[in-house]
Amino acid sequence: MKVAKFGGSSLATAQQIKKVCNIITADPERRLIIVSAPGKSCDEDIKVTDLLIACAEQYLASGSAERELEAVINRYRDIAEDLGLSQDIIEEISADLQQRLAIETNNREKFMDALKAAGEDNCAKLVAKYLCSINIEAHYINPKEAGLLLSEEYGNARLLPESYQNLRKLRERSGILIFPGFFGYTPEGVVVTFSRGGSDLTGSILATAVEADLYENFTDVDSVFVANPKIISNPKAISQLTYREMRELAYAGFTVLHEETLVPIYKAGIPICIKNTNNPSAPGTLITREYKGTNGPVTGIAADKGFCSIYVRKFLMNREIGFGRKLLQILEDEGISYEHIPSGIDDMSVILKEHQLKDGIEKRILERIKNELEVDDVSIEHGLALIIIVGEGMTNTVGVATKATNAFAKTGISLEMINQGSSEISMMFAVKAEESAKAVISLYHEFFQKF
Ligand code: ASP
Repeated sequence: MKVAKFGGSSLATAQQIKKVCNIITADPERRLIIVSAPGKSCDEDIKVTDLLIACAEQYLASGSAERELEAVINRYRDIAEDLGLSQDIIEEISADLQQRLAIETNNREKFMDALKAAGEDNCAKLVAKYLCSINIEAHYINPKEAGLLLSEEYGNARLLPESYQNLRKLRERSGILIFPGFFGYTPEGVVVTFSRGGSDLTGSILATAVEADLYENFTDVDSVFVANPKIISNPKAISQLTYREMRELAYAGFTVLHEETLVPIYKAGIPICIKNTNNPSAPGTLITREYKGTNGPVTGIAADKGFCSIYVRKFLMNREIGFGRKLLQILEDEGISYEHIPSGIDDMSVILKEHQLKDGIEKRILERIKNELEVDDVSIEHGLALIIIVGEGMTNTVGVATKATNAFAKTGISLEMINQGSSEISMMFAVKAEESAKAVISLYHEFFQKF
């Protein structure tokens, strides 16, 4: 059995939905289908989820949201009409939205989640209806009845483990099952959503629960690329990579999948294939637990901006027991999480996400470090980007760091930090944010164009 998830752009118009249905019916193994809400078919489009958020906000602010509601219904109406479906489905969708707007608004986040979930829920109903209209046995699955149970954390729910046992029963159902992504229910029966993009996560939870042979994630690109196509034109495609590689690349900006997608699937070892709804015969990118040894030393290059580095120097730091703990305690007291801690004998840098340092936090931290830890020097460098090269093949290859640093030197990029710390499969470089694209280009040239 294969589990297939289709993202918003694959469901944005009737034409796209027809492509999706062709893909589903082309393979009898594709039996459990997860759908997002209709997304964008072009840059000017607005995702249904965003329309629903606007609708909920307007309703909370003024007690009515006629115009915003109409915009949502119109999106579904256009799709339903172009699919040749009868008016009933639109009436059903309007009634569903009215019902959601009528719930209690005291808890804003709870209200917001009820509205947000309408995007995928109604899309699933619509796709199931369309498949039935072309004489295919298809059923909309209600996540509440199926037992997808989540914690009561609105907008950022976590899976409750008993869900797996409940969802496993879907294996016994006949026909094609259309399951809405992105939301589930608390044990008390209240709608709650994952964070944005969470339908990927619904897909991996379901793939794990039914022990699928493959989790196919259909989007609008042929594959995952070795570097960001906005920086490198026509970058090479990655045909296969491991969960670990994907996790590290996702950390620094590969946004193909929702961050938590690999969590449920990791232990089960189910492969994920990223495929293109607009070009389903392209092989896509396969993500597996085991390394197949087919890539060179570097599988991908990722870059992300928005970091800063707190640098501390103290003579004989290495001999001072508890120095690191005290430094991190200061950050913890301010509720700040850190990313990396490259260190020397008498120096230590702490890399953080910059946005955490607002409201005078920066000044307080620097003063506390100076006064409480009696350091010789403390400073902070803003505006950094992290560039990461990732590859299972790096473990057995000599000279990867040299190649990378040579590439930077040749292009005149000065390195603020190198971290080849605990991970055997990645190497990280900090550069000034404005040099980030140049750094990616030089690494791409070094590892993927020079043979
Ligand atoms: N529709 C939701 C969003 O736009 C969830 C998803 O597409 O995965 O975030």
